[in-house]
Amino acid sequence: MVKRFDGREYNELRKINIKLNVIDNAKGSAIFSFGDTVALAAVYGPKPSKMSLDYDKAFLRVRYNMLTFSTPERKKPTPGRREIELSEVIKRALEPALLLEEIPGSIIDVYVEILNADAGTRTASINAASLALSLAGIPMKDLVIGLAVGKVGEKIVVDLNKEEEDYDSEKLRKDPEKSKYIEYYGEGRATDIPVAIIPSEKKFTLIQLDGEISNRELNDALNLALEKALEIKNLMKSNILKHLSSSGNFIY
Ligand code: UDP
Repeated sequence: MVKRFDGREYNELRKINIKLNVIDNAKGSAIFSFGDTVALAAVYGPKPSKMSLDYDKAFLRVRYNMLTFSTPERKKPTPGRREIELSEVIKRALEPALLLEEIPGSIIDVYVEILNADAGTRTASINAASLALSLAGIPMKDLVIGLAVGKVGEKIVVDLNKEEEDYDSEKLRKDPEKSKYIEYYGEGRATDIPVAIIPSEKKFTLIQLDGEISNRELNDALNLALEKALEIKNLMKSNILKHLSSSGNFIY
């Protein structure tokens, strides 16, 4: 029976890989991957703010960057409009979970580098940053989980890869090797919905939508996102606990 391009079920995430504290000079760091999409996040701070403004909470700065060699076609090294926007999107997705008022007058810098891109880099970045922030000891009420859901053709799926994001049944019909996938996905193109979720509150801190989808389908997709966010959170949490216990830190 035909399944997704890479053989997954509709509700199956790509293989998740997590590596913690990979950078000695950072306060906390992590690599998070969804299949071939690999994000590295490093957190520096909190450090005292040199800005003259008197802030009553810490100031979060996020820089998202996609490395030149991360895509099949060489990516220009200078940050473009996309990188600037994604830095802001990731910052806004993380901020609601952080207790920044507990560390007033300080700055936290989060640097994200995409090592390899196959769609879903902003959501992998959110997970890598969440892990790095927690390892850096930044007070937070929960991990923020990023993942994409969406509609490919007529099918609701989780964690779209690039081939699914680019789905177009009209184009596929002309490809003798790939046309069989229309049987699984159905007609039309793809609608990608990257989201970020605070699982303990079932709160969405990011919903973006590129494409078309009905209210009912959107509801189904967001429910699927909530379910899978919990799965990702449990995996991230168990990795943190394992890392802390193996590095000699006491766990309550
Ligand atoms: N992409 C690329 N070159 C670029 C920008 C994007 O090859 O300059 C690819 C990459 O695989 C990326 C995907 O297009 O993951 C989707 O990009 P999008 O802007 O939708 O963000 P993402 O899904 O990565 O969060």
